[in-house]
Amino acid sequence: MAKYDYLIVGAGLFGAVFAREAADKGLKCLVIDKRPHIAGNVYTENVEGINVHKYGAHIFHTNLKNVWDYVNRFAVFNRFTNSPVANYKGELFSLPFNMYTFNKMWGVVTPEEAEAKIAEQKKEALSELAAAQGVSVEEFEPRNLEEQAISLVGVDIYEKLIKGYTEKQWGRPCTELPSFIIKRLPVRYTFDNNYFNALYQGIPVGGYTGMVENMLKGIDTKLGVDYFENKAELDELADNVVYTGAIDAYFNYSLGELQYRSVRFENELLDKPSFQGNAAVNYTDAETPWTRIIEHKWFEFGKDAEGNDIPKTVISREYSSEWKKGDEPYYPVNDEKNGALYAKYKELAEKENAALKEKGKKVVFGGRLGEYKYYDMDAVIARALEVAKMELGD
Ligand code: UDP
Repeated sequence: MAKYDYLIVGAGLFGAVFAREAADKGLKCLVIDKRPHIAGNVYTENVEGINVHKYGAHIFHTNLKNVWDYVNRFAVFNRFTNSPVANYKGELFSLPFNMYTFNKMWGVVTPEEAEAKIAEQKKEALSELAAAQGVSVEEFEPRNLEEQAISLVGVDIYEKLIKGYTEKQWGRPCTELPSFIIKRLPVRYTFDNNYFNALYQGIPVGGYTGMVENMLKGIDTKLGVDYFENKAELDELADNVVYTGAIDAYFNYSLGELQYRSVRFENELLDKPSFQGNAAVNYTDAETPWTRIIEHKWFEFGKDAEGNDIPKTVISREYSSEWKKGDEPYYPVNDEKNGALYAKYKELAEKENAALKEKGKKVVFGGRLGEYKYYDMDAVIARALEVAKMELGD
């Protein structure tokens, strides 16, 4: 008989939540990760009292009460509200697009003035776009991110706050990107710099690593273990595998490589209390090579665990790049071409399971990389809970 009920490949959020649910049902799990630490890309590391988000800023936000209650079982969340600042060639704008942004951009003062200005910008843009498509304004449908953005907020905001940032982040022209990416950006006519439209928001006090550690309490976890280097041996340990790595890597890229964006960070410890006075500053011009600078201490209000002001600061410049083998994949590129390739890998996964079934075995693919989906943290937790329910019952 196999030693474990589940072998879980990847100690990130999907893997940790699934492991917790299985363990709570009395099942035996082994969680492995090729990195030397748990928590996947939400991993935080304490540097001089500051919890540094080693794989980029993670701000927990959700509308899902069950997910919020769930994460609160494993961590105390602070009241951090994400309000990034955009730096366009030295000019600062508030994000997301709200009355502070519109006032700075056009000098408008009231919501009515702002609405009128945006309406005017949209009207101009829409008639040009519709003419280019050879349709009437009413018939016009945005076909890509650029058209979606311009028809949502007009040219001024698009040029100063969207185009450069997006093209740096995705390494592709906005005309070749799917419009859903931009739907993540809210527009409001109130003075409200809260980036997320979410009922619940915060950062786990003490960092995400502690939260995932609590999820994995009592569960066998082995770090620094590469699944593919020891696959046959590891597969012997359990009949069921939950695999949260990249789906194309699982099949040894046999159908070709899916595209991902990767991110590189340049971290600096500075001997001063503040660098930019905010957790996130986005550099929205095309020339600055980094997309944003994160100043980690502000996720916890510049205080250490005892509530004292921290005299130093850690900043990370974030550079976006095309993923190549050997890099960490961060963002799936959910365009048509990759979507079609992913669908083929999904078919392979089904075939794999049909073959495994004969041996009484199974593999479940989950998470941002396993499902090739731009999941936020809350969505990945919701998905892991859903999959756990399907797999393990109520
Ligand atoms: N975005 C933008 N300007 C900004 C911030 C975001 O145009 O200053 C757009 C951009 O297209 C980006 C998307 O919004 O790809 C999502 O950005 P967000 O920062 O929310 O993504 P994250 O990396 O945090 O998941």
